[in-house]
Amino acid sequence: MKIEITEVGSRDGLQNEPVPVPTETKIELIHRAVDAGARRFEVTSFVSPRAVPQMADAEAVLAGLDVPEDVVLQALVPNLRGAERAAKTRAQEWVCFLSVTESHSQANSNCSVDEAIARLEPVVELARTEGRKPVAALAASFGCPFEGITPLDQVLRVARGLHDLGFEEMKLGDTIGTAIPSQVSVTVSSLQKALPQVGLVLHLHDTRGLSLANVMAGLSLGITRYESSLGGIGGCPFAPGATGNVATEDLVHFLHAEGHETGFDLGKLVEHGRWLSEQLGRELPGRLLKAPPIGATQPLDGIERAVG
Ligand code: ZN
Repeated sequence: MKIEITEVGSRDGLQNEPVPVPTETKIELIHRAVDAGARRFEVTSFVSPRAVPQMADAEAVLAGLDVPEDVVLQALVPNLRGAERAAKTRAQEWVCFLSVTESHSQANSNCSVDEAIARLEPVVELARTEGRKPVAALAASFGCPFEGITPLDQVLRVARGLHDLGFEEMKLGDTIGTAIPSQVSVTVSSLQKALPQVGLVLHLHDTRGLSLANVMAGLSLGITRYESSLGGIGGCPFAPGATGNVATEDLVHFLHAEGHETGFDLGKLVEHGRWLSEQLGRELPGRLLKAPPIGATQPLDGIERAVG
């Protein structure tokens, strides 16, 4: 299958990075990912700079990008204030983020889930006026740091509410990396049945090492869109110890080995992942960055060729 990957490293990946990352490094991260084949990005977030200082340079990052025409740039737009900022930039898709569970919603957005849905109405309206595409991101779709496993009914209720507002694309976030393949299967198939017209994207974290198993569950239900971050960077501010997104290079390696197409160059991804590790001054969670070579030469290509 042809699989579409959204690189979220410069947003979800860096959002919780304690040390400020220079704007030029964020821009270079995106340019390098483009060089490796990425064509979709969640670039940054128009959250309040007071709440998330790491994203205070949202406008500067978007303005500094030099990317081909076919590259799609998304930005997180948490509220109307963020949407007004996004409207002055080139972000074509506005990612409207909300939590599926009450406690995560209170901790993250200081409001109930229903209030969070209601607050998105003017954002969707402005997106329409400005000719941008609104995309919903449902955090804690599988598990919540406060409430445990997220009930499926709650996910369906939120998804229906968002669909009523006009969202036709939804990212299901395994924010704290607790999802297991059988849960992914049930959640995805239930949503496909309830809202067949909605495009689903899986946003998986690898906290418990199950992200690729969960991708496998998504693939078996025909899900062709996934999100990942170079090097597997990322975390969750309300779940200490929660590790990053599935690493883009690990996801691409897995998909190529399984015979899927991504448009990515795995060797370049690994090279750029190592660059990112140097920039952040630490070892990153991505497995392929550390994996020993298999065979004598060109180990990564070798794995791909071995499976055709
Ligand atoms: Zn995430």
